[in-house]
Amino acid sequence: GTGHGHLVPGDVGRQLHRRPRLGVLRVVPVAVALHGGPRVRNRRRARHVRPDAANQAVDGKGQLKSPVMLEKYKQKRNFKSTPEPAGDVKLAAERAKSAKPGKGLFFCVQKHLASHLHYDFRLEYNGVLLSWAVPKGPSLDPKTKRLAMHVEDHPIEYGTFEGVIPSGYGAGIVMLWDQGTWKAESPDVDAALKKGDLKLTRDGYKLKGSWVLVRTGGRYGSRGGDARSWLLIKHRDEWAGDLDIT
Ligand code: MN
Repeated sequence: GTGHGHLVPGDVGRQLHRRPRLGVLRVVPVAVALHGGPRVRNRRRARHVRPDAANQAVDGKGQLKSPVMLEKYKQKRNFKSTPEPAGDVKLAAERAKSAKPGKGLFFCVQKHLASHLHYDFRLEYNGVLLSWAVPKGPSLDPKTKRLAMHVEDHPIEYGTFEGVIPSGYGAGIVMLWDQGTWKAESPDVDAALKKGDLKLTRDGYKLKGSWVLVRTGGRYGSRGGDARSWLLIKHRDEWAGDLDIT
């Protein structure tokens, strides 16, 4: 038998009680919080971004991305009634250019008490947050695979958002549940996402070590079904265990 003490390093308990920095809603502190350094992003610099680049952002190789960046996110929301960030494509473009994946990119998990409680799992990539809604939340047990529905990219500013969405899409309470940095274990993230098999390492307050996101549905899946269906699975390592964290 393996108890918590055996599988889960001693400081996990302490980590669980450490709260991430909360309630930071403005753009500049967000950039600082995400980069971990003082004054990393000067908003005035946004003016110097060429208009085409500002509206399109770039991918990891410096190539311009599709102009539809964050469009789905914006379409689903009425920013007159939701306190969620509107999504700044200039910030996304700058963020994409300045990101250093080797040093780790931002990730967060938000607990979302909407009509159905779920955990939104977000990974910074190409200036935005790739997002999955995980109904049961992450499990530290490698045997417990958690359904993760791929949803629309969210703006980087969403990474420290907390608040009440009073009505409309996602109405309910959003709380920051974990945050930290992630690194891809897969050498080519674009290829891994396309294939539907992204291995990653996380260094958060609650979630650490090696994980995988595997697409199960759609044309790349074996079972057909909803192309948005993925599984979030913990790999067996020193951060795995049977501690229930949700
Ligand atoms: Mn959600």
